[in-house]
Amino acid sequence: MLDRANKISAELVRIRRDLHAHPEMGFNETRTAALVADTLREIGVDVREGVGRTGVVGTIGKGNGRVIGIRGDMDALPIIEETDKPYISTNPGVMHACGHDAHTAMLLGVAHLLMQSYRQNPWDGEIRLLFQPSEESSDKDGISGAMAMIADDALTDADAVIALHVDSKHPAGLCRFADGYSMSAVDEFKIWVYGTGSHGAYPYTGTDPIQMIAHVLNALYAIPSRRVDPLEPCVVSVGHIKGGATSNVIPAEVYLHGTLRSFSQEIRQQLWDEVERAAKVCEAFGGTYKVAIKKGYPATLNAPEINKVMREVTADLLGKEVIQVEKAFGMGAEDFSYMTQIAPGSMFMLGAAIDDGIVRNHHTPIFDIDESVLPKGSAILAESALRLVRGG
Ligand SMILES: [Zn+2]
Ligand SMILES: [Zn+2]
Repeated sequence: MLDRANKISAELVRIRRDLHAHPEMGFNETRTAALVADTLREIGVDVREGVGRTGVVGTIGKGNGRVIGIRGDMDALPIIEETDKPYISTNPGVMHACGHDAHTAMLLGVAHLLMQSYRQNPWDGEIRLLFQPSEESSDKDGISGAMAMIADDALTDADAVIALHVDSKHPAGLCRFADGYSMSAVDEFKIWVYGTGSHGAYPYTGTDPIQMIAHVLNALYAIPSRRVDPLEPCVVSVGHIKGGATSNVIPAEVYLHGTLRSFSQEIRQQLWDEVERAAKVCEAFGGTYKVAIKKGYPATLNAPEINKVMREVTADLLGKEVIQVEKAFGMGAEDFSYMTQIAPGSMFMLGAAIDDGIVRNHHTPIFDIDESVLPKGSAILAESALRLVRGG
């Protein structure tokens, strides 16, 4: 499989650079989706367009056997690219700064490889290539690309779903796996604390929401250290506080906006409750409050039995030494998590750092990857899907 993937590596690079030069934001991936659909048709794959709005599903195989999904996300980010690459973004203010261009190119590579396999030795069952829109953002109703594709039956009857994410901070070709919860759930919280306000020289004549927020912040930051079991990972961070306009007027309202990260559903629920308790501290100082929780992506749950197949494939194709098993990838979030709620699934991290000492973080204007990993990613996904559809 790896030999066959290496033979198409120039084409994978060409597609990735084409997509990189033409990035599109979530649910606007029309050019990308058209390129994907056209390429799939050329390869001979059955195509369903407009799945989850701008998503595309390619299907290889049919029958009553297993149904295996492979997911690649297609969307870009609102970032002004600052690289000097010949394939720099031509869409001002939009950039493929998370590597989803590479994911899309690799999944097209998977289509090519699996179609070859199917022609040689057809399987009973379906492999579905899930070209997903809008991973990075949700629409105004909180719908992300994975949710939209699931609602459009892309994962109906799926027995397993797999994916990878390129990773610009680890050496090219390193494959990191984690069983169980591997990426975090993400929720937003907003707190409004109300007092009466007053003249800055006469604070005792009113109630001061800025003084109250100091105590609310203490209570919030004490959630991970004093309220949650230390063996349960979670994060509470405040990123935005707004209140007041000048030095000598105590305002009547302060607004605070933050993020919550957690793995298990119990801790996720606990964080929502604890934010409410922390806000309530303001009442001790005569204030009132309002809390709003905006629920985001759930935690990504990697199924050990799927990971096992992918690790075996990786060892067979690239050697055991490229495999690194970790407890979890971190407190970042991924909407692939919705797919792992439908079917047992797994996402692994494919190291793709350019080996020149420069750190090119995801979601930054200088993000870039080592393109030599493209055929490796295609080969691992294709061979894993093949073993899974054949009952491995
Ligand atoms: Zn991202
Ligand atoms: Zn991403």
